[in-house]
Amino acid sequence: MKCFYLKDFASQRIQAGEKLIRLEDFEAPDDIKDAPEGMIIFITDRSHNFKGQAFVGRQNKGFAWVFSLNLEDLWSKELFSIYFQEAVERRQSLLDDPTTTGFRLFNGEGDGLGGISIDWYDHFIQINWYSKGAYEYRDWWLEILLESPLEVAGIYETKRFPIGDSEKAMGHVTGKEAQQPLIIKEQNRKYAIYLGQDWMTGLFFDQREVRQYIQEQAKGLSVLNLFSYTGAFSVAASLGGASNTISVDVANRSLELTKENFLINQLDADNLSNEIRIMDVFDYIDYVKRSSKDFDMVVCDPPSFARTKRYVFSALTDYIKMAKDLFKITKAGGLCVLSTNHSAYSKDKFIEDMNEAGRLSGKKVQLIQSFRLPEDYPSSVDPTSQYLTVLVYYCSE
Ligand code: SAH
Repeated sequence: MKCFYLKDFASQRIQAGEKLIRLEDFEAPDDIKDAPEGMIIFITDRSHNFKGQAFVGRQNKGFAWVFSLNLEDLWSKELFSIYFQEAVERRQSLLDDPTTTGFRLFNGEGDGLGGISIDWYDHFIQINWYSKGAYEYRDWWLEILLESPLEVAGIYETKRFPIGDSEKAMGHVTGKEAQQPLIIKEQNRKYAIYLGQDWMTGLFFDQREVRQYIQEQAKGLSVLNLFSYTGAFSVAASLGGASNTISVDVANRSLELTKENFLINQLDADNLSNEIRIMDVFDYIDYVKRSSKDFDMVVCDPPSFARTKRYVFSALTDYIKMAKDLFKITKAGGLCVLSTNHSAYSKDKFIEDMNEAGRLSGKKVQLIQSFRLPEDYPSSVDPTSQYLTVLVYYCSE
C-alpha cells in the first residue's frame, strides 16, 4: 500500500469529515498525479500520522475519495456491502412506503463512497458512475445489488466520465429490461421514466419535498413553471388543484414528455388548463412582462449553466436579474419558488441575492420556507455535497 502526505490544511479537512481530495492537497502532487484509476492509497499528515484511506477517482476538480478513516478497514466487496446495507437501512421508511416507488438508494460520499450514485425505480436500478476509478469496482457493485434482498429486477448504468469512442455511455447492464416508460410513484404522483436512453431519466428525485409542498399549496392558483423539463412541478401543482399551469422549456422533447406526465395522472393535457410552451424562458419572461400577465405561483428551477441560441445563463451571476423579474410577475399574495442546484451557490449567498432581487423588484417579498436535500440524499461535509437550495418567497405589494 502506498502512502502519500497531505498538506496540513487538507489533512485537517479530512479529519473534519471531508471526503474529496484534490491533487493540490498532496505535499508532492507529482508523485501521485499519474496513479491509475481505482488505486487505493493511505494518506498521512506530514508527521506520518495515518489520516485515512482513499481510492483514486478523478472527477471535476477531485482526484481521490476518502472511504475510511480506519487503518483496519479493507477495501473489499464486504466493505462495499456494509456501506450499501447502511444506505438501505437509512431509506427503510421510503422502501416501506407503497406511495413512493422511486428515490435515491445510494448517494455517493454522503453514504460513504464517492464517485457513484444509485437510484431506485420500482425494482429497477440506475447506477451513475462519476469516475473511472469508481467504475473499476463495477463487478462488486453489480454482485451486491443482485444479491441484495431488495429484489432487483434489472440494472442500468450511465457513465459520467470520459470514455472511448467505441464505448456506450449508458444502457442496460443485466436482468430484465424495464418498460419504456416505466411509471413510478412519488407520494402517489405518477411519473414516466425512461431508463438507459438519456442523461436524465425524466425525474429528479431530490425535489420530492418541493413537489409535495407545491401540491399542498396549489389549490386554485395559476402556476408558472420555468425550466420545466418533464413538467414534474406542474403535475404536482395540477394534482393539488391549481386552476391552471404553464410549463416553459426550450427543449422540444419537453412537449411530449410533459403531456405524458399529465395524462398518466388523469390530468388535462389539452393546452388549456395545462399549457406547455416550448420556448426560451427569457423570451417568455419578456412576453409576460410586456403583456402585464401575472401568476399566483412562479416556480423556477434552472440548470446551473445554460446556453441557448440567444442567451447565456449562469446561476451565480444571472439569477438575481431573473428573480427580480419573477417577483414582478408574481401576484400580491402569491408565492415564488426559487431553486438552485449549483454547489458553489451557498444557501446564505442565495438568500442574500434573492432578498436583493426582491428589493430591486420593488415588491415586498418575504422568505417563508426553504428546502435542502431530502433524506435519501445524505451529504458529507464537503462543500459540493449540499448542492440544492430551494427558497419560497411570499410576495405582497
Ligand atoms: N425543473 C425541472 C428540471 C430542470 S432541468 C424539473 O422539475 O424536473 C433543466 C431544464 O432547463 C432542461 O429541460 C433544459 O431544456 C431547460 N433549459 C435550459 N435553458 C433554458 C432556457 N433558456 N429556456 C428554457 N428552458 C431552458
